[in-house]
Amino acid sequence: MADVTCIRCEQTREAIKDNPYGGKIGLTLKEKICDLCWQEWYAQSIKIINEYRISLRDQKGRDELSKQMKIFLKLEPAPEGETALQVEDTPPSK
Ligand SMILES: [Zn+2]
Repeated sequence: MADVTCIRCEQTREAIKDNPYGGKIGLTLKEKICDLCWQEWYAQSIKIINEYRISLRDQKGRDELSKQMKIFLKLEPAPEGETALQVEDTPPSK
């Protein structure tokens, strides 16, 4: 299993095991994000979906979640005037 130097936690760790996204963003995730941070995002995304009632059936919901993912994983700075959605009990990085 390949290791990556993760841009979020800045540690060299195991790369994401599954293939979370297709296309360019999927490759970026595999190259830049470790499995641990991915797991954290996964847990966070479930909370965001529940708390903000994001529907993944429509494009707007998917776009919103993908934007949140990029902010959470530090793939992109938050767009001006926008912040990461906050949910309670975000587990700390180990
Ligand atoms: Zn990481």
